[in-house]
Parts: sequence; C-alpha cells; structure tokens
Amino acid sequence: KGLSGARTTRSATESSYKNKDNQVLKKINQLEKSRLDRRTQQAILKVKKDEILKKSQNQPYWQISKMIEEYRQDLSVNTKVSTSSEVTLEHPITVAVRKRPLSDLEIQKNEIDIVTIPNTNQIIVHEPKQKVDLTKFIDNHIFKFDYTLDENCSNETIYKFTAQPLIKNVFDGGYATCFAYGQTGSGKTYTMSGNEENSEAGIYTLTAQDIFKNVYLNKTSRKIIISCSFFEIYTKKVYDLLNHKTSLKILEDAQQQVQIVGLTEQVVHSVEEVLELICEGNKTRTFGHTSANSQSSRSHVIFQYYLRVENNPDIYGKFSLIDLAGNERGADTFFASKTTRFESSEINQSLLCLKECIRALGRKDCHLPFRGSKLTQVLRDSFIGNQSKTCMIAMVSPGIGSCDNTLNTLRYANRVKELSGKDKLAT
Ligand code: ADP
Ligand code: MG
Repeated sequence: KGLSGARTTRSATESSYKNKDNQVLKKINQLEKSRLDRRTQQAILKVKKDEILKKSQNQPYWQISKMIEEYRQDLSVNTKVSTSSEVTLEHPITVAVRKRPLSDLEIQKNEIDIVTIPNTNQIIVHEPKQKVDLTKFIDNHIFKFDYTLDENCSNETIYKFTAQPLIKNVFDGGYATCFAYGQTGSGKTYTMSGNEENSEAGIYTLTAQDIFKNVYLNKTSRKIIISCSFFEIYTKKVYDLLNHKTSLKILEDAQQQVQIVGLTEQVVHSVEEVLELICEGNKTRTFGHTSANSQSSRSHVIFQYYLRVENNPDIYGKFSLIDLAGNERGADTFFASKTTRFESSEINQSLLCLKECIRALGRKDCHLPFRGSKLTQVLRDSFIGNQSKTCMIAMVSPGIGSCDNTLNTLRYANRVKELSGKDKLAT
C-alpha cells in the first residue's frame, strides 16, 4: 500500500515536472513562433519596400496609380451594354464618349490609365495633382453623358449607340450628322474609317451597310438613289478627296443655301463601291504628307451620303460623317511655327462655332451662327429643322500624359450636352 502510495507521489511529482516542462516548451515554441512570424513579416515588408523602390525607379506614377486603384476598388462597376435591343435617340443631340485602350507607346512610356468608366453613362478622370508640401493626390472629375463606352467596346457597339439610330431619320427625309471629336491620337479615324490591321469596319462602312439594307428593303414604289462625296477642310479651304484634292469654292445664294462648287458626287450601288471611294479618298488625303499626324490631323474630313428619289434632283435625306481636326492646342507651345499657330486658331474657331451651332439646333434656335467657319457653313442644313439630328462621339486617350486634353474634350462635349439636358427638362 505504502509502496503504491510512494509510487503515486513520485508519479505526481514526475507529472508536475512534466507539466512544467511542457509549459516551458510551449513558451519556447511560442517565442520561436513569434520570432518566425516577426521575421516573415519583416521579410514581407522588405519585399514590399523593394517593390516600391523598384516601382518608383521605373514607374514614376506608382503613387498616383495606387490612389486610382484604391478609388476603383470602392466603385461598383457595370459597363455591360445591352446590344440586343434597338436604340432610338429621342433628342436631336446625342453625346457619347469613347475611351480607347492604352497604346503600346503609352505603355512603353510607363503611362498609367487615369480614366475610369464605371457604367454606361459616367466617366471619371483622375487628375494627378500636388499639394504645396509636395504630397500627391488625385482630383476626380465626374462627367455624365448619354453613353460612355470603355476600351473594350468595338466600333460596331459605338455605332449602335450613335450613328445607327439616325439612319431611320435620313430615310424619313431628315438630315443627320455624326462627329468624331477629340485630340490627335484619341481614335477618331479608327472609329470613323475603321482599322485596316484587324479589318475592323468603321462608321463610314457600317453606315453604308445599313443604308443599302434600307434601300433593298424599301417597299415603296419610289426608287432611292444613293450618292457620296468625300472632302477635307484645311484652314479655310475645301479639297475634293474624290478628285485629286482639287481646291473648291463655297458659294451661298440669296436663300442662304450653301454650295461647294464642283464637288464630286459619286452615285453608288453597293457597299463595295462605297468602300472603294473611301479607300481612294483616304489615299488622296494622306498623299504627300510626311507623317500621318501632320496635316492630316489638322483638317476636318467629311464623308456624306445623299439620298434622292429617282428623277428628282432635290436632296431627300443626307447623312454627314465628320472626322474632326485634333482639338489640342498646338499654338500654345512656345516653339509653334506660324503655320501651326494659324492652323490652330482656325481649328479652334471652327470647333467653337460648331459647338454654338449644335447648341442652336438643341434650342431649335433660328439664329444659327453658321458663317463663323467653313465647316459649319458647309453643314448649315444639318443644324436646322425638326428633322435634323446630331450625334457627337468624344474620343479620349486614357494616358496620364493626355490628362489636360482629355479634360478639355469632356468639358467641350459636356457643354454641347448640358444645354440639350436643360431642353429635355423644359419640354
Ligand atoms: P486620331 O484620328 O484621333 O488622331 P487614330 O484613330 O489615328 O487617332 O488612333 C491613334 C492610334 O490609336 C492608332 O494607332 C489606332 O490604331 C489606335 N486606336 C485608336 N482607337 C483604338 C481602339 N479603340 N482600339 C485599339 N486601338 C485604337
Ligand atoms: Mg485621325
């Protein structure tokens, strides 16, 4: 009994030692673990710091980029457009914005994307700014438009929301216009003329397809004849792109009817014939230019479809598609040449006048300041009457280097829109 009693005490002391040992071991383990944890934390921090250092060396905009990323995380994004239903544009003026993807050159220059399109009506520009104490911050400008389409949208989608709904208008005997507005390199020509590299059709071609579809489906006895013209306005002169860039005169008769004297108007019978004309005109346009972005970005290019009922010389309906000159202010730079200054002031004047004319159309104002520029003079008919409709596609480049131009483009487009918005409320 005694023995067993002694055994129990011994085993009791042993187990108490063991307990103590366990506790010590546990503590040691815990210490070890927390040391390890600390080390991993430090290692992670070091990697992060190295990353930041590396980023700041080849990514001059990493701070801004981080702020934009954080801003985007808090946004609910839904940019899915429904392309199944038919779009009708009730108001005479529609303004859409299209953002193109970052270009290879922008990526090479480590430029970051500062434009966010959270849904199909809004666009946000994150303007990088600096406080007096040199801390960086972003100023977020939010704009609203009829449609905002992000870098994943195709020419066909942008067409669906802008020019396509106006086809009906033209066949109902109205005038329609579609403008591509924005800085050089923002995607105006890509949208209007299409892209040869991936053979994506542009709005010129997509319009042709729908126009001929309508002609073939035409159930009335009247036969509709389609013809086209293609010309360019550079400074104050008009050049015929379907006739070796012949310089043409603009005349205005007593009824204020404006005419371009001698402009080639080619009758077309199929989409293929339209494509040939576009190809010919584009060749004529860029012929002799030293670079694609020299003179060609400083002129307005106008492609027009005319609808006539057979045996009637009067124009029944007209669709004008305009690839506008780049809106950036070349004249502001100190080194701008005399020509550049002249070009820029001409472009500026015509774009301001265009805005006023579109606004007048929105107000159904009979005072139309169309004489302010050749562009608006040539398009005079398109800004009058109940049957005239206009859409503007404002193109924006997403890069941080284009921030000022992007804001300018959106502000201009907004002013066109603002008034139409007020009109909407009034009626
Ligand atoms: P703009 O006519 O406004 O000066 P461009 O249409 O010539 O500009 O476009 C400039 C460059 O960007 C071209 O190389 C063009 O292929 C490319 N680009 C424009 N828009 C897009 C787009 N939506 N997707 C892919 N590339 C585009
Ligand atoms: Mg262009």
